[in-house]
Amino acid sequence: MTTSERLINLKKTLPQHVSLVAVSKTKPINQIQEVYDAGQRIFGENKIQEMVEKHTLLPKDISWHMIGHVQRNKVKYIAHFVNLIHAVDSFKLLQEINKQALKNNRIINCLLQIKIASEEAKFGMMQEEAISLLASEEFKLLKNIKIIGLMGMATFTSDKEIIEYEFKSLKNFFDSLKTKYSNFNTLSMGMSGDYKIAIVHGSTMIRVGSALFGARNY
Ligand SMILES: *Cc1c(COP(=O)(O)O)cnc(C)c1O
Repeated sequence: MTTSERLINLKKTLPQHVSLVAVSKTKPINQIQEVYDAGQRIFGENKIQEMVEKHTLLPKDISWHMIGHVQRNKVKYIAHFVNLIHAVDSFKLLQEINKQALKNNRIINCLLQIKIASEEAKFGMMQEEAISLLASEEFKLLKNIKIIGLMGMATFTSDKEIIEYEFKSLKNFFDSLKTKYSNFNTLSMGMSGDYKIAIVHGSTMIRVGSALFGARNY
């Protein structure tokens, strides 16, 4: 199957309220262009430099999502075009995004990454940290960012029950914040291996790489 055939098949299975981020990290321009030509407009990258290069070379109506961990000193390179930053995990990072957004006269949409996996290596805030960030006076002063929801990554495991438990807990947390914060409309959870489970448990945005583009060779 070609990449665009895989895209079309995947999109057929998605409910209307779920949007697809095509994770194009490590993939060449021509393969991304093929997926673009098949109708896909949202692409996700996890490295700043790679996203900047691809943004320069590809059509300008692509919505670029930064899905990886962001270093504060690199926000300036993407602030003029990024559409959504998925993995905000500290107030300091949010402050820097706000500063760079202001310089570019933009409002940048962000998601707070919540740690749901038991693995040590995964980034993300604890729920309590997210609650106090959203309630803080300092946060209310940031006028050039908008937090529109949450992102989470489940444990890398074949045990479906663990993944379900983690997605359910993120969905519950999302719902509880949504009652308070009217901008909340996006729950980014689910990748190639677990997006079906994520959708069952309330995901509104899935980030799919290898199931679309094929395996990555690093
Ligand atoms: C690479 C990556 C994905 C996509 O992974 P696949 O398993 O290839 O679908 C999703 N989210 C994040 C944060 C990633 O880094």
